[in-house]
Amino acid sequence: MTAPFHSLAQILDRLTLTARWVLREHEPGTDGRCPRCHTPDCAVASAARDVLAAVKRNRWRC
Ligand SMILES: [Zn+2]
Repeated sequence: MTAPFHSLAQILDRLTLTARWVLREHEPGTDGRCPRCHTPDCAVASAARDVLAAVKRNRWRC
C-alpha cells in the first residue's frame, strides 16, 4: 500500500496549501461578500482559517 503522505509534516503542508487556496477563492470582495458563496460571512473561509490555526498549533507542538 502506498501512502500519499509520508509524514505528519507533509500532511500539515498539504492542509496549509489547501486552506490558503480556499481562503483566496473565498476572500470577501469590495462589498464584503464572498464572491463564491455570495454571503457576507462565508463559512468556507472561516473553516479554512480554523484549519490554518490548527496547523499552526500543531507545528508549535512538534
Ligand atoms: Zn465563500
